[in-house]
Amino acid sequence: RGKRAFIAGVADDNGYGWAIAKSLFAAGAEILVGTWVPPLQQALNIFETSLRRGKFDESRRFPDGSLMEITKIYPLDAVFDNPEDIKANKRYAGSTNWTVQEAAQSVKDDFGNIDILVHSLANGPEVTKPLLETSRNGYLAAISASSGSSISLTYIASERIIPGYGGGMSSAKAALESDTRVLAFEAGRKHKIRVNTISAGPLRSRAAKAIGFIDTMIEYSLANAPLQKELSADEVGNTAAFLASPLASAITGAVIYVDNGLNAMGVGV
Ligand code: NAD
Repeated sequence: RGKRAFIAGVADDNGYGWAIAKSLFAAGAEILVGTWVPPLQQALNIFETSLRRGKFDESRRFPDGSLMEITKIYPLDAVFDNPEDIKANKRYAGSTNWTVQEAAQSVKDDFGNIDILVHSLANGPEVTKPLLETSRNGYLAAISASSGSSISLTYIASERIIPGYGGGMSSAKAALESDTRVLAFEAGRKHKIRVNTISAGPLRSRAAKAIGFIDTMIEYSLANAPLQKELSADEVGNTAAFLASPLASAITGAVIYVDNGLNAMGVGV
């Protein structure tokens, strides 16, 4: 395999992270993923077991019959940098090596380096609350899970009003897009690393279902976007593969819309 990619935020086969892994694998990359552990203390176990037992085989399959392989799954919690922070938190009792630092070190110990880093995760504990009613903790938690990386996923609620996308998630996405620009400058000058974010249209992922309005957003897009078709996760995956490839060698600091063109509309029709 050619390049090595680490994709943070894959815990099932419904979300954007999974589709990005598939597109990168199809383009020849080796796939490592970072999976969150705490929901019910077992998201990682369920993901690993389902993968092993073939539950994802249909969605792992390419048209030629071959299957996407995930070389290794790492436990990862994006909001902790220090193992001491996790020790102090009961939800994480008994587990180790989940912090961003530790996961990075484990990958380094196992493989030396990676070529592509994808951030495909989000968590707004108060996403169903309007910003006006969001607590300080909820707001900070939303921002905290969304720090920048080489390729990330954003949402148009950062720049336009999307009622229902609450809890500080709109602010978190605005921070993410700003970080994309500043990191593109800093990492570009220092390491020649490119940093971009994909502003994706609505997809019925596990995270999106928790927000509660995903079906309305999909219907709205179908009715109003220039391209009247449901967005498939693969279309976002393919864009990520393009952005990670040499074909995008002059693209950095960009917010790339993959939303059937909905962002270009001024009013609904
Ligand atoms: P998803 O449920 O597949 O992915 C979200 C992942 O984040 C899950 O695997 C979850 O376990 C993980 N996660 C949450 N908190 C974490 C933490 N602290 N540490 C590590 N992992 C954590 O859902 P998705 O919709 O594919 O989300 C991927 C990205 O796409 C997110 O950034 C989301 O905001 C963005 N996005 C989604 C939509 C949409 O309509 N689904 C639209 C635009 C942007």
